[in-house]
Formats: sequence, structure tokens, C-alpha cells
Amino acid sequence: MKLTILGCYAATPRTMTNPTSQVLEIKNHMFLIDCGEGTQVQLRKHKIRFSKINHIFISHLHGDHFFGLPGLVSTFRLLGREAEMHIYGPKGIKESINLLLKLGNSYTNYNLVFHELTSKDSVLVYEDDKVSVETIPLKHRVYTNGFLFKEKVGSRTLNVEVANSYGIEKCYFQNIKNGKDIILDDGRTIENKELTFDPPIPKSYAFCSDTAYKPDIVPIIKDVDILYHEATFLEEQAAIAPKTRHSTAKEAASIAKQANVGQLILGHYSTRYKSIEPFKVEASEIFEHVLLADDGKEFVF
Ligand SMILES: [Zn+2]
Ligand SMILES: [Zn+2]
Repeated sequence: MKLTILGCYAATPRTMTNPTSQVLEIKNHMFLIDCGEGTQVQLRKHKIRFSKINHIFISHLHGDHFFGLPGLVSTFRLLGREAEMHIYGPKGIKESINLLLKLGNSYTNYNLVFHELTSKDSVLVYEDDKVSVETIPLKHRVYTNGFLFKEKVGSRTLNVEVANSYGIEKCYFQNIKNGKDIILDDGRTIENKELTFDPPIPKSYAFCSDTAYKPDIVPIIKDVDILYHEATFLEEQAAIAPKTRHSTAKEAASIAKQANVGQLILGHYSTRYKSIEPFKVEASEIFEHVLLADDGKEFVF
């Protein structure tokens, strides 16, 4: 699993910082999460192929998470995209994008499939045989969801060395991959688990931005490997956080601790701060494993 941070600052795009957007590579998918203004430029900068993105998850309809989407949708058209594009986001997202396309008489020549969200509970929004994506209802000034991405347990893989040591012929390898035991010519049964490697332990990633401190998300994100949680403010501005429905670094750390996550990544920093290091310092007082997101940073799990 690889996470590329395209932007992780609050409010407005600036010369050196970008609003929220990130790409999660998980089991051959390239999931785009949020799409602040400038996202398509950031995609190009990081050499992420536009054609590899087939699913876009939008947390909420504030500009710093969403204003890059109309531009990206339009660019896909100019690039001659034909594959379907699935967009998951709050109700209203379809109307807003379609209105812009209609006014510009520039409908897409590929199919845009909107999956509009309205539930206040966590719901499954995407699933295939390798991954699932569920919403994480958040507490913000408008209807907002985070997203929980989970790998599924993969299949066992053939241990060629052990198979060869028993003199098993190649034509039986597919049976072994399919989970079958093997009966040797001398009548001995070799169990499948001896002939295969355990599948890798599935990983999970939770994206939570924007939100006020909301401990009732803890059961949803319990034990995730990686939690990205917004931390717009430091302690000095703690009083503003609940009013604007954002979190402090310490609140993000508290959520991480309660949920027993493997690693916390902070982001969505207010642009009032000259340095983001104090976010790590404050969060680390509560939770040990803290990393700071920054534009262009990649995390491989
Ligand atoms: Zn925001
Ligand atoms: Zn917001």
C-alpha cells in the first residue's frame, strides 16, 4: 500500500502548499481521495497516470477538498478518456458537476457514475474481491465522511521449493494454488498449508478530514494500520477548533490512541503556522507513532 500526499493544507492553495488531495495505491487500484484546487497539477508533478484513476472519493463539498474535481473531470475528457469514472461523495456532488458541464456545453464522452452519500452511519461504498471501502461519518460544518480502505485476505501462494522437494509435478501446481492437498504416489497426503505460503496480512487505511473531535468514530477505525487524521490547530488555538469543527493535533492523537492504530499521520494544517513540526511535538505527548504529512510526501506501508 502506498499513500502519496498531493496536498494537506487547509483553506487556500498557496505557492508552496496545496489543499487536500491524496492517492492511495492499494491492490492495483489508484484511489484518489479528495480533490482540492490544483490536484491535477499535483498528479502531473508526481507522474501519476490519469488513466489509472477510476475511483474518486470526496469527503465533503468545501472548496479545499472539492474544487479541483470539475477541472479534473474536464481534463479527463480532453485526454480522450473512455473508461467509466466512479465518484463517491455527498449528495449534491452530481448536480454541481453536471451544472458546470451543462453550462459549458462540455459533457464528458466517458461515463461519470456518481455514488451520492447521505447516510449518517458508516456504509460500504465499494467492494471487490481484494478491497473494500466504507465511510466514516465525521463531524464538520457540512455533511462529511472519511473513508476506510481495507485489503481483504489474499490467497495462499505456492512454495515451489517444498513442492519440488516432494517431487510434485508442475501440472499439480494449479491444484495447490486452488487450496487442494496432494496425494503422493506412495500414498502420503501432503497438506496444502505445507505446500503454500501464508497470504500477506491485509492492511487498512483510514482517512479522516475534516472533523471536530469525534470519539464515536473509534469503533469504526479500531486497530487500523494507518490513520490520517486532520489536525488543523495547535493547542494555542484549541478554542477555535470546536467552533470551526476542526481538530487539534492532540485531539487527533487521542483518537489514534483510543483506536489503537498502528501509525498516525497528521495533516490539514492551518496555513497560519510557519512550521508544522509543533504538530508532531504536541501529538507525540499523547500518542507515540506520529508522522507528518506534507505535500509530495510518500508513505509506503
Ligand atoms: Zn478542509
Ligand atoms: Zn471543510
